[in-house]
Amino acid sequence: TSRTSATITEQRQSLPICKLKQSLVETIGKCRVLVVIGETGSGKTTQITQYLVESGFANRGKIACTQPRRMAAMSVAKRVSEEFGCKLGTKVGYSIRFEDCTSSETIIKYMTDGMLLREALVDRDLNAYSVIILDEAHERNIHTDVLFGLLKSTLEHRKDLHLIVTSATLEAEKFSAYFNDCPIFTIPGRNYHVEVFFTQEPEADYLEATLDTVTQIHLTEPPGDILVFLTGQEEIDTTCQILNERMAALGDVVPPLLVLPVYSAQPSEVQSRIFDPAPEGSRKCVVATNIAEASLTINGIYYVVDPGFAKIKAFNPKLGMDTLIVSSISQASAKQRAGRAGRTGPGKCFRLYTESAFKNEMLPSTVPEIQRTNLANTVLSLKAMGINDLFGFDFMDRPPTQSLVNAMETLYALGSLDDEGLLTQLGRKMSEFPLEPQLSKMLLTAVDLECVDETITIVAMLSVPSVFYRPRDKQGIADQKRARFHQIEGDHLTLLNVYETWKAHKFSNSWCYDNFIQSRSMKRAQDVRTQLLSIIERHNFEIKSSRGDYGRVRKAITAGFFAHAARKDPKEGYRTLVDNHQIYIHPSSALFNRAPEWVVYHELVLTTKEYMREVCAVEPHWLVDVAPHFYKKIDPDQLKSMRKNKK
Ligand code: ADP
Ligand code: MG
Repeated sequence: TSRTSATITEQRQSLPICKLKQSLVETIGKCRVLVVIGETGSGKTTQITQYLVESGFANRGKIACTQPRRMAAMSVAKRVSEEFGCKLGTKVGYSIRFEDCTSSETIIKYMTDGMLLREALVDRDLNAYSVIILDEAHERNIHTDVLFGLLKSTLEHRKDLHLIVTSATLEAEKFSAYFNDCPIFTIPGRNYHVEVFFTQEPEADYLEATLDTVTQIHLTEPPGDILVFLTGQEEIDTTCQILNERMAALGDVVPPLLVLPVYSAQPSEVQSRIFDPAPEGSRKCVVATNIAEASLTINGIYYVVDPGFAKIKAFNPKLGMDTLIVSSISQASAKQRAGRAGRTGPGKCFRLYTESAFKNEMLPSTVPEIQRTNLANTVLSLKAMGINDLFGFDFMDRPPTQSLVNAMETLYALGSLDDEGLLTQLGRKMSEFPLEPQLSKMLLTAVDLECVDETITIVAMLSVPSVFYRPRDKQGIADQKRARFHQIEGDHLTLLNVYETWKAHKFSNSWCYDNFIQSRSMKRAQDVRTQLLSIIERHNFEIKSSRGDYGRVRKAITAGFFAHAARKDPKEGYRTLVDNHQIYIHPSSALFNRAPEWVVYHELVLTTKEYMREVCAVEPHWLVDVAPHFYKKIDPDQLKSMRKNKK
C-alpha cells in the first residue's frame, strides 16, 4: 500500500548513508577500488547497490553484493526488492548454493561469496558485473580471501570494473594497503554509549547464565529489546524453548517476552518476524548466531547478552578434516556484539565472561578462515581457474604451507590432480559441483558404477541439516521412529531409505510429521537433488539406478571417503586407518549395535568422545581398489590383510 511505501522511503532517507549518497557515488566513479566503513545499520548493504543503479552503473553490467552467509543474502535481497519496488527474483535477486533466485532481468544480485567464486570458475573475469561489492569482508571467510586475490588481478585487465570492500573499522587500513593503498570512505554513524558488564567469576554453564541474564533484564530493566548471541541451531532452539517455559511459569505478573530464534536454516516466514517491532507492551528477545553480529541489522536492541562463544570451522590436523568447534570469540567480535546495543539509544552489554578473560584470553581479531581450514576445495577451484602456482598467489594472509600441501595430497589421492599437480579430467569435472571434493568424487564414481540415481539422493541428504527431528520431550518415540528406517549397511543407505519412503508417500508433509522427519530439510534435499541432477545431465551422463545392488553405492561412497576409513578395535570402538586414532560409532547411527569390522564415515563430531557420524559398512579391499596411491602409506601388514579379505 502507499502508506507502507511512504514509510520505506522515509526509512531509507533517514539512514546515515543517505546524506553521503552523492559523494559516495562520485568517489566510486573515480576509483577502481574503495574500502567503505560504517556502523552496522548505516545502510551499506541495502543502499549502496541501489545508489549504483540510480547513477547508471547497472547500464554496463550487474551489481553484485556478496554476503558471508546464505541467510543474509536472502533476507537483504528480499528487503531491497521491497525498497526497489519489484518482485524478488526480477530486478533484485539472490543466488546461494543450490538456490538461484535471479533472472535475466536481475541487475542487483546479492549472493554468498562462495557463489561468486563459483561464477569465477566459469568466467574468470566476471564480465557480467560492472561493480562488485565484497560486503562484510572483515569476516574473512575462505571465499572472500580467494576473491581478494582473484579480483585484484582481474582489476588489472578489466579497466571498467569497480570493486567496493565494506569492512569493520579495524580492518580497513589493512584492506586499503592490500589494494594498492586505495581510498577509505567513512560513513559517520550515530552510536550511543554502551555500558559493558563482565562477570566476576568465569561461568560454569554459559547457557544457564544466559537464561538467568535474560530473565533478569526482562524483570528489572526498562523497555528495549534483547539480543542474545549463541552458537548454533540446537542450542538456540533449546534456549528459546526454556525461555518460553520460564516466562509461562511467571504468568501474568510480567509483561510478555517475545522470543525469536535466528539462524541460517530457518524458514523465511520466521525470518521476517525478527524485523517487526515487538507488540505494544511486550519486549522482543532475539536469540541469534553470529549472523546478528553484523550481517543482519535488527533495530530496537538496547540489551546484548554475550556468552563469548561462536561456532567456527577449523582444521583438526589429528583427524585430517575440518570440524565445527565452539570456540571463544575475538576481542573485535566482542566489541562488535556490544555495539549492537547502542544503535537506537544508550544500551547495555552483559558479557558472561570475566574482564581478565577478555583481556588475556581472547585474540585481538579472529584468525582468517583460510589459515585454519582444509583447503582442498579452494585449491581445486584455483586449479580449475588455471591458477597453478598456489605459492605465488597474492593472498592477503598466506595459508600455512602445510595446509596447501595437505590439500594437494588430498586432491592427488582423489585423482583430481596428477603427478605434476595439474588438474586431471576427473578433477575438472569435480570442480563443477558445488560440493566438497569427496562428495563430487563419490558422485562421479557412481556414474561409472551405474548407481548415480541412489548416490545423488545420498549426497543431497548429506548436504542438508539433519532430517531427523528429536524434540527434547519426545526423544524416546523419535528414536523408535528413526530406528525403523535403519539399514544394516549403515547411515547412508538409511538416508536413502528415508528419501525413498518420503517419495513413495508423494513427498508428503504429514508423513514427515508422523515420522519425526524435518520436512524443511527434506524439501531442501529435494532441491539439492534437482540441482545436482542438472549438472550431471549437462555432461550427458545417464542417470542409472543400481536396481537394488547397494554394494555399488557403498563402493562409490568409499571412492570419496576412503581416507575416513576405520577398523574395529578388538578392545573398544574403532581405529582410523590413517593414524590409528581411536573413534566411536555415534549412538544414533544405524550401525551402533552392529559394529561391522570395516567402515567409512562422513564426519567426526567431538562431544564426550570422538564420534563418527553417517557411517557406512565397507569391504576392506574396496579401499585399496579405489585409492591405490593413498593406501601405499598404510602399514604393509595391514594392507595385506585388507587385500586378503577380497572374496
Ligand atoms: P549496514 O549494511 O550498514 O549494516 P543495512 O543496509 O543492512 O545496514 O540496513 C539498513 C537499515 O535497513 C537498517 O536500519 C535495518 O534495520 C533495515 N533493514 C535491513 N533489512 C531489513 C528487513 N529485512 N526488514 C526491515 N528492515 C530492514
Ligand atoms: Mg551490512
